[in-house]
Amino acid sequence: MMFGLYLHIPFCRQRCSYCDFNTYAGMEAWMGPYVQALQEEMAWVRRQYGGPVPVDTVYFGGGTPSLLPVSLWEGLFRALHTHFQVAEGAEITVEANPESVTEEGLRVLRGWGVNRLSLGMQAVHPQDLRLLGRLHDFPAVIRAVALARKVGFENFNLDLIYGLPEQPLARWQKTLTWALRLAPEHLSCYALTLEHGTPLQAWVARGRVPEPDDDLAADMYAWTREVLEKAGFVQYELSNWARPDRACWHNLKYWRWEPYLGLGAGAHGFAAGVRTANVRAPQAYVQRLLKAREPVRPFPWTPATVVYHRVSPREAAEELMFMGLRLVQEGVPRARFERVVGRPLEDVYGPVLQELAQMDLVVWDAQGVRLTPLSLPVANQVFVRLLDPPLSGNGPGTMSDRRASGPSASSPTAFPAA
Ligand code: SF4
Repeated sequence: MMFGLYLHIPFCRQRCSYCDFNTYAGMEAWMGPYVQALQEEMAWVRRQYGGPVPVDTVYFGGGTPSLLPVSLWEGLFRALHTHFQVAEGAEITVEANPESVTEEGLRVLRGWGVNRLSLGMQAVHPQDLRLLGRLHDFPAVIRAVALARKVGFENFNLDLIYGLPEQPLARWQKTLTWALRLAPEHLSCYALTLEHGTPLQAWVARGRVPEPDDDLAADMYAWTREVLEKAGFVQYELSNWARPDRACWHNLKYWRWEPYLGLGAGAHGFAAGVRTANVRAPQAYVQRLLKAREPVRPFPWTPATVVYHRVSPREAAEELMFMGLRLVQEGVPRARFERVVGRPLEDVYGPVLQELAQMDLVVWDAQGVRLTPLSLPVANQVFVRLLDPPLSGNGPGTMSDRRASGPSASSPTAFPAA
């Protein structure tokens, strides 16, 4: 069994106005102790597992992993190769922000086997970047991409956001067109969501910034799908497009309900049928890891774990559907559903799938179930119909445990990029 491995680096130079991720600005002094604690957590996972854990994807997300000084990466990669058995040809991704990329830093990452870079480009127009609170401009993106190519990266993603307040369609079209000129292998295009507690949400609530226009965002999404298809990209997930064979293997694990370990402050994992979430504050994370402790639960527990929730059959069915249906080509194969849930798809979801198929919102055939082009812009309306399948047992955890510990249908990806 191969696992995915997510490692959270919770540091940013400045908080962006729309961001509700578990990240912190002004904590550079904590980088050293944090990285040491992360190495400790890797060692815990190895001990709990009973040897080096086999992984075929590794994802350094954040936060802004590219902010870590070169001197700290060495310890991280040494620990990675000591405590994990990294498969030959594994996908190793690092998230980076354009303004924090240096040639030396990229060379070091490439030298340690990092073979995929995910760059937070977000937009082209200075007004959009300013509203989002981003520190870079478009020339910084061009420079970062050129440096990445120069040091040998052949696989990179650009993260983009559309549907911003006061963003006309033409401005989004310019963002995507200019992003395509950089010849990325992968594009993540997310509609802006106003997250509770963010400055942007407060500005909109006070009327300082107009509300994003949902209808316009739907037009942008439709245009994006059309243009990227013409440009030779495959839309493999609701918000993700890739050149053939360049889908993100790591994120595919989330959507396919495959096991992954989440290490670092606030990281989420799913392994051995258990969803885990770590303590969020970096200071608390460091304290927990640097204090010697006896294990209180089996793998995948570590001293940073604050949620340890065994997934019930009902939760498994819901999650399989919510996550799997995001994969627009693949959907949820019948065989996977039956293997995980222990019951055929029709036994659990027959009547509701029949109804959704009649409305042309899903295709339900011998392979399994998939969304239709009609339902892509309103996928959440399909997902709510799949809540509470007729299966027994919510398992030992509570609903609030579950929300805290796993990716949800409304989150575009479990661990969005910097
Ligand atoms: S959006 Fe990315 S760069 Fe901005 S604060 Fe959040 S994690 Fe940091």
